Amino acid sequence: MFKIEIADNPNSYECPSDDTLTRAGLRAGLGLSYECNVGSCGSCKVELLSGTVESNWPEAPALSDRDRAKNRILGCQSRPTSDCRIKARVLDQYQPPRRPQKFSATLMRSLQLTPDMREFQFALQAPVDFLPGQYALLYFPGVDGGRAYSMSNIPRADGQWHFQIKRVPGGAGTEALFEKLSEGDTIAIDGPYGQAYLRTDSPRDIVCIGGGSGLAPVISIARGMAATPALAGRKLHFFYGGRRPEDICGEDMLRELPGYGERIFYHPIISMPEREDPAYWAGKVGFVHDLALETIGKALAEHEIYFAGPPAMATAVQRMLIQEKVPQAQVHYDAFY
Ligand SMILES: Cc1cc2nc3c(=O)[nH]c(=O)nc-3n(C[C@H](O)[C@H](O)[C@H](O)COP(=O)(O)OP(=O)(O)OC[C@H]3O[C@@H](n4cnc5c(N)ncnc54)[C@H](O)[C@@H]3O)c2cc1C
Repeated sequence: MFKIEIADNPNSYECPSDDTLTRAGLRAGLGLSYECNVGSCGSCKVELLSGTVESNWPEAPALSDRDRAKNRILGCQSRPTSDCRIKARVLDQYQPPRRPQKFSATLMRSLQLTPDMREFQFALQAPVDFLPGQYALLYFPGVDGGRAYSMSNIPRADGQWHFQIKRVPGGAGTEALFEKLSEGDTIAIDGPYGQAYLRTDSPRDIVCIGGGSGLAPVISIARGMAATPALAGRKLHFFYGGRRPEDICGEDMLRELPGYGERIFYHPIISMPEREDPAYWAGKVGFVHDLALETIGKALAEHEIYFAGPPAMATAVQRMLIQEKVPQAQVHYDAFY
């Protein structure tokens, strides 16, 4: 166990040699800045002022040669090998609403959602709490590093955590999950993480925007809203985009919620139709952020907005929300990589 001190901060914390600087800090309740937790975004960069660390992933894309020259390291990938002193951003917005923990979980069931997306349902040894919209790190046997996946459910009495995962061709994590993991197998999970969780104290209606692999967190937000008495009067518009009709899913999950069709509305759209034929697809064609703007218009700025999906979609949604002057405090997302 090593002691980690933070410059200009009265708090220090303990980090075991098999944990990372960022995650051990979050487990201790400190608001160390981070976002993706998988070495891709760079939000967790800290300066190593003294001490030594080893990196889980020295080639992680978020660290540049300039960073290395300045003794900057990725807190989410760095395991201490001595006591350390770091210069880090510690902010209230990163303070974990639920402290993350490591546990093992057994795959109970998996369900096909679309040709390349499945829901994986894991049973935990003991329930671990999380907030709708948060994510976890899943560790698959034989795969270097954890993979981040959002929970699609809300906390349940039986403690199950569900994930909706899109298979990525050539991806090490999804290949191990889709091809090698069987029902009854146990994996290591670490969570919950993320800042895009449901705000239950907001007086605003909700817009959810999901694209492709970004279904799970926004389904969890919708389920969370429906289950929260304080949000009983809120409306929710749920936009979901895929490339082709067979990629579109999620409506059946929303239909199960009380208020579907009255205060919960589903708006699907596809971006790459193969032909013009109402028997093939009679709905909207285009990008999901354009559909949200077309449907909600200027009133977007009066909503609480949650979105998730691949980087290109997330960038387009962000640009649209800035153009529409939606206050940043009302916008909630964890970038996918
Ligand atoms: C916050 C967040 C939430 C997400 N939620 C979902 C979701 O709900 N559903 C979904 O389908 N996808 C989700 N993703 C994407 C998912 O995490 C994977 O990137 C995707 O499934 C591809 O993984 P792969 O292993 O198949 O591909 P790969 O190309 O093998 O791996 C890509 C990912 O793994 C990380 N990585 C690669 N090599 C290493 C290494 N050696 N050590 C450590 N990390 C490594 C990369 O940073 C990258 O994130 C989410 C991503 C993030 C960041």
